[in-house]
Amino acid sequence: MRDKKTPAEKGVCIHCGASMKKWSTPDISFSDGLGFGAEALLVCFNDACPLYVNGWNSMFDRYGRVGSMRYWQHPADNDDGALPVAHKDAMRGDIIED
Ligand SMILES: [Zn+2]
Repeated sequence: MRDKKTPAEKGVCIHCGASMKKWSTPDISFSDGLGFGAEALLVCFNDACPLYVNGWNSMFDRYGRVGSMRYWQHPADNDDGALPVAHKDAMRGDIIED
C-alpha cells in the first residue's frame, strides 16, 4: 500500500505530526468488508490536521456528501489509511485514553 520506502513513525501523523490516539475499532466492517485485524488503531484526532481539514472539501467534491477523513495507522504493521468521518466528534467516543 505504502509507496514510500521508510515506514511512518509509529503513532505520529504523517500529515500534521501530532501524536495519535488509540481508537477501538467498531464491530462493523467498512464497505469493502475488510476488517482491520486489530482491536485498536492509532488515529489522528487533531482537528487542524491537513488531511482532516482538506477532507471536508474533497469528500464533498468527490462523493457529493459532507464528511472528512482522519489518518490511521495499524499498531502492529505498516498499514495506514484514511477513515471517513461524518462530523467533528465522530469516533471520539471510542478513543482509548492511556
Ligand atoms: Zn494528523
